[in-house]
Amino acid sequence: MTRDNVAVIGGGVSGLTAAHILQRRHDVTVFEAAPRLGGHADTQLISAEAALDTAFVIFSERFYPNFARLLKELGVTSQPADLVVDIVCDDCGFAHIGADLFGTPLLPQRPNGVSREEWDNVSTDCARFGPALSDAMSAAGSGPTVRQVLDQHGFSRFFATHYLYPMIGSLYLQPSRRIDEMPLKFLGDTLSRYGLMGADALATWRTVTGASHTYVRVLAGRLFRVRTSTHVHEVRRSGAGVSVKESSGAVHDFDKVVIATHAPETLRILADPPPDVREVLHSIRYAPFETALHTDQSVLNGTGEASNTVLHVTCAANGADFRSTYRAGLVHKLGEPEHQYLCSQNMTAQLAPEKVLRVLSYEHPVVTPESFALQQRILELSDDVIAFAGAYAGNGFHEAGCASGVHAAKALGVTWE
Ligand SMILES: Cc1cc2nc3c(=O)[nH]c(=O)nc-3n(C[C@H](O)[C@H](O)[C@H](O)COP(=O)(O)OP(=O)(O)OC[C@H]3O[C@@H](n4cnc5c(N)ncnc54)[C@H](O)[C@@H]3O)c2cc1C
Repeated sequence: MTRDNVAVIGGGVSGLTAAHILQRRHDVTVFEAAPRLGGHADTQLISAEAALDTAFVIFSERFYPNFARLLKELGVTSQPADLVVDIVCDDCGFAHIGADLFGTPLLPQRPNGVSREEWDNVSTDCARFGPALSDAMSAAGSGPTVRQVLDQHGFSRFFATHYLYPMIGSLYLQPSRRIDEMPLKFLGDTLSRYGLMGADALATWRTVTGASHTYVRVLAGRLFRVRTSTHVHEVRRSGAGVSVKESSGAVHDFDKVVIATHAPETLRILADPPPDVREVLHSIRYAPFETALHTDQSVLNGTGEASNTVLHVTCAANGADFRSTYRAGLVHKLGEPEHQYLCSQNMTAQLAPEKVLRVLSYEHPVVTPESFALQQRILELSDDVIAFAGAYAGNGFHEAGCASGVHAAKALGVTWE
C-alpha cells in the first residue's frame, strides 16, 4: 500500500496525536506557526535542573486514557503530582483547605468581617451544590447555565464569589462573568468524567516526568517532517487532495490534512468552509489570560510556603479575573532551590518585577449553551480528506485534544489499534 502525504496544521496535543497515529501508514508533515512544537504543552527551561510547564501540567492516567496510551507508546513516564488545593482570599481571609473539591469544605475559623450566617451558608451551599449538579446533568439539551442555577436555587453570593467561581475559574481558566454563562451540565460532565466530584478527587493526578516537552520531543522525532516557524495561511481543496499555502507564499500539495488550530484560526485558514463547518467554528470563542512564572513567594500569603499546598486560588469577590498560583517547582517535584518556582494566572501586576522570569499569554475556549450544543459536531464534519481536531471539540483539556486527534486520524482512514 502506498503512503500518502498528509499535512497536520498545528503542533499542539491535538495535531501531534493525529500525526503520531497517521505516521504509521503515511508520511506526515506538521506545520507549526511557533518556533517550537507543543502548543499548550509549553515547557520553560529555566536551568538544567528546572523544566517547568506553564500551561498543560497535570493529567490523570485513569481519566485520560488516550493521553496515557500516547505516553506509553512514546516510552515517556509520569509521576504523582500530589495535589493539595486551597482557596485563600487576600481581601477577606476566607480559606478552604482540602482535597475534596466539591465535597464538604474543611473550613478554618470564621474570618473577621464575615458574618456567622454567611459562614454557615458556605457549608450548606456546598452540600446543596452536588445535587444541583446531578440534576443539571440529566437536563435536556444544554440545560440551565451556572447563573440560572445560582439564582433559581438561592445559593448565597458569598458561596459563589468565595468558593464556586474561584474553584471553577481555576479549572476552566475563566473569569466569573464567563462562568455565569457556562451550562452547569458542561461543568458536571467534565467533573464526573475526570473523577473530580468524589472524595480523593485529586489523588490520581500526575505530571509528565521532566515536563511536557519530553513527550513532544519523542513524538516529533518519529514524524516524517516537522516545519516549525511556519504559519499556514490557507488550506484549500484541490483535485482529490488539498493545497496548503504558507504565509510566505509557498504552496504544497497533500493528499489529506488535519487542521488542529483553535476554532477561529481554523475558520480563517480553511478556504470555502461548508455552512455547517462555519456555523460550528463560529460558535467557539476564547478568553485570553496571562500567566507569569516567578519566584515571588508573597502571593502565597504566608499560607503555603511551608505546606504541601500546590494550588492557591484567590476569591472572585471584587469581580476581577480569576487569579490563582500553583507551585510549579513543587508539582514537578524539583529539589531545592528550584521548588520555589511559582506560576500565577492574571497576577503579573502584583508581582515584584525582578522576580518574574517569564510572562506568557494563552487563551482558553469559552463555553456557552450554544458552543456546548455545537462543539462536538466539528469532529463529525471531518471527511476522508480534511479532518478537524482541537481540544475545543471537547471540554478543552489535554485529553479532549488527544481524543480529537484520534478521531481525526480515524476520519482519514487510520485507526489507533
Ligand atoms: C495555562 C493553561 C493551563 C492548562 N492546564 C491544563 C492541565 O493541567 N491539564 C489539562 O488537561 N489541560 C490543561 N490545559 C488545557 C490543554 O492543555 C489545552 O487546551 C490543550 O493542550 C490544547 O491543545 P490543542 O492542540 O487543541 O491546541 P494548542 O495546544 O493551542 O495547539 C494549537 C497549535 O496550532 C498552532 N497554530 C495556530 N495557528 C496556526 C497556523 N495558522 N499555522 C500553523 N500553526 C498554527 C499554534 O501555534 C499551536 O501550537 C491548560 C491550558 C492552559 C492555557
